[in-house]
Amino acid sequence: MNQFDWDRGFPIDFDIETGRSETAQTTKRYLSQMKGMYFDSDAVKKIMEKEDPLIYEFYELGCPERPGDLAFGTTILYPGRVGEEYYMTKGHFHTRLETSEVYYTLSGEGYMVMENPEGTTSEIPLKKNKAVYVPRRYAHRTVNTGKEPLILFFVFDADAGHNYGTIETKGYHKMVVERDGKPEVIDSLKW
Ligand code: MN
Repeated sequence: MNQFDWDRGFPIDFDIETGRSETAQTTKRYLSQMKGMYFDSDAVKKIMEKEDPLIYEFYELGCPERPGDLAFGTTILYPGRVGEEYYMTKGHFHTRLETSEVYYTLSGEGYMVMENPEGTTSEIPLKKNKAVYVPRRYAHRTVNTGKEPLILFFVFDADAGHNYGTIETKGYHKMVVERDGKPEVIDSLKW
């Protein structure tokens, strides 16, 4: 069981500046949990010798996965780089591929990096006060290209499921790197 009433409704606080809720705990992702996802493995090694930085955290409120339920929450993606590649989330396909998702940027800036199983790619800028629609069939990952945390609010079909498999092994076709002090979307060096 959990603290929220998914049958009768409930309110929950999310701070509009920080994305934080006082009534729930975040799930945290550290570099050690996603080191194979960054292209520059030497840079990963160097960072890990000193520390294991927190890359992002997000709220999983324990929404039941019944047809019709909507899972929602916020993601807090910290600023930083591994080599020239910006901090990013693992990203995933939905197990039920034909399900979409909506993201709203509360704070910060970056990219939503997407691709479908046929290899069509799309990168949409994330900007404060703007929403992005992630269409059905597209894997999606967020990248923080700014100097502040990137804070996103998301909503998706609770029974969509998460499929990390194919993205974890080979990664995305595109990556977002800093070149001459500016973000640039390039073809992935891993493909
Ligand atoms: Mn999703």
